[in-house]
Amino acid sequence: MLYLVATPIGNLADITLRAIDTLKRCDYILCEDTRHSHFLLNHYGIRTPLKSLHKFNEAMRKESVLNDLKKGLHIALISDAGMPAICDPGSRIVSACRDKELEVTIIPGPCAFISALALSGWEIDRFQFVGFLPKSQGKLEKQLKALLSYDGTSIAYETPKRLLKTLSALVSLQPNIQVAIARELTKIHEELKVGTPEQLFTYYSNYPPRGEIVLLLERRDEAPAPMNEQELIERIKKILRNKEISLSQAIRLVAQENGLSRKKLYEIAHLALGTNDC
Ligand code: SAM
Repeated sequence: MLYLVATPIGNLADITLRAIDTLKRCDYILCEDTRHSHFLLNHYGIRTPLKSLHKFNEAMRKESVLNDLKKGLHIALISDAGMPAICDPGSRIVSACRDKELEVTIIPGPCAFISALALSGWEIDRFQFVGFLPKSQGKLEKQLKALLSYDGTSIAYETPKRLLKTLSALVSLQPNIQVAIARELTKIHEELKVGTPEQLFTYYSNYPPRGEIVLLLERRDEAPAPMNEQELIERIKKILRNKEISLSQAIRLVAQENGLSRKKLYEIAHLALGTNDC
């Protein structure tokens, strides 16, 4: 039998009794990084042998694991954190077990995106999880556009290095949306920040993020009531507080948001802000 065993995403105490029991009883444990997993296993006095299973050897390791399972061995599969096979190795072996009709079971436990979703306090009757966002700017924008058109909460894993780039793209694509950043869940510096992309961009520019991050995009509300001229100007001024955005970009955004022509907005902005810089 293959056991998919969830392990903590930060706080070592977040492990179930079944997980500890299973890890103790198995013939061996497949894990991503043996040094990392030793730490957890030592903490719980688990002496079961470890074998590495990571994205580079999963295909190769598969055959020997399948043979061991056919012989009747009990094997646990863990990842560095949380639920195996969720943005972590495991799915290939599970799928191969299904093909060979070998038994697989789950010992559930922590998962970062489910924890973040619950913590957001948002309606979660409909959500999508997309794993890590793409690295290249073009693919990132394409992915974000797709998420923004989804009628539900979208969830992605993010890195501290790329967070500002993602927030900046969101400022351009959909400045009104509510974004939640769940950081370092279950750890000492656990933090949940909710705001518009611009508010969060400003916050994380001042306090560069560290650690592990889940990013959530709230379901968009129905179209808001049309803005009057004063509100349009305030909106443009607010966007311009983000130093990376030019007046013409701000006008394009506000025009898109309000279904107005750019020409009309240029005229309003010219009168109110006294500028030709469009
Ligand atoms: N299998 C894991 C799970 O069940 O959530 C996910 C593994 S994936 C390789 C690692 C990513 O999960 C991190 O880069 C981060 O985006 C997210 N993550 C993991 N632990 C987290 C935590 N304590 N707080 C916030 N995000 C976390």
